[in-house]
Amino acid sequence: MAPEPDIMVVAHKSRITNEGGTVLPPKQNGDPELKTFKKVYIEITSICNLACSFCPQTKRAKNFIDPEVFNNILDQIKPHTKHIYLHVKGEPLLHPKIDVLLDSAHEKGFKVNITTNGTLLPKTQHKLLGKPALRQMNFSLHSFDGHEGSTDREGYLGNVLSFVREAVKHNVIISFRLWNLTQDNFTNAQMNRNRETLEVLEREFNLDFRIEEKVVPGSGVKIAPNVYLNQDHEFQWPSLDAPEDDGKGFCHALRSQAAVLVDGTVVPCCLDGEGVINLGNVHEKSFSEIVDGERANNLFYGFSKREAVEELCRKCGYRQRFGA
Ligand code: SF4
Ligand code: SF4
Repeated sequence: MAPEPDIMVVAHKSRITNEGGTVLPPKQNGDPELKTFKKVYIEITSICNLACSFCPQTKRAKNFIDPEVFNNILDQIKPHTKHIYLHVKGEPLLHPKIDVLLDSAHEKGFKVNITTNGTLLPKTQHKLLGKPALRQMNFSLHSFDGHEGSTDREGYLGNVLSFVREAVKHNVIISFRLWNLTQDNFTNAQMNRNRETLEVLEREFNLDFRIEEKVVPGSGVKIAPNVYLNQDHEFQWPSLDAPEDDGKGFCHALRSQAAVLVDGTVVPCCLDGEGVINLGNVHEKSFSEIVDGERANNLFYGFSKREAVEELCRKCGYRQRFGA
């Protein structure tokens, strides 16, 4: 599930937002400054139950995070953020102890966003509903058409909507995502395919307009209290195999966000799904030291000068969106 516009990614996931994080000024006593983030991604599993065409499968080891390790990571990131997202790659609802993880997050004062394909809700919704830590659920509805073996669109959407009806009673924010538009033709077959999904949403929320009439790619439409729909172009994961440009541009990684992969590797953003920009591992060094380490600061101060220091960043479409 990766990118959030929350950065634009993936698949069913996230993208980096263009909201800046905060870098506190150096303390009087000369202690190093502390980077704080709008959010930190903690990948709780690297495994997904689907195989979407636009989402390259990770070559990293398949694993689930141990709840004790999760607790330890929460303690490490606590000075840096109050918001966590439970993915980089992988489907968070596959984690057998997602309820325990949500309870730990609440005990430690975090708010949680979950981005999911939604297919596992019938088996897992009892572990989610009523959890006080749960702030927002993002549903990657584009995964239905992105996954070759998908069947029964009505049944899939019915299960998602049945969960949503309950979740909104608990003040959970809902975001439906259809990130499958193509760049060259906004009114193409993709749009027709999405029509079936949009009709279901229009019926559910008694909308008296066609959602397409209100959609601006990249921004959301409010379709009910606390419920949004976001349509956008298909996300391209950055890759070392992609063409490189002059490296000019900007990125909010390590300003508004950072990510911890399931094996403890810290990366600057939720788009580094293969751990290419390996800043260090929380099992060997503290998160605070890692995000203030040499490689992290080279990336950070490079972007201060609008320069991508890392090869992956020079091949990343997200940075290119912000221009020179
Ligand atoms: S549901 Fe699709 S887009 Fe989301 S992580 Fe799985 S394969 Fe990737
Ligand atoms: S420019 Fe680099 S740090 Fe920023 S999103 Fe792309 S790969 Fe991540």
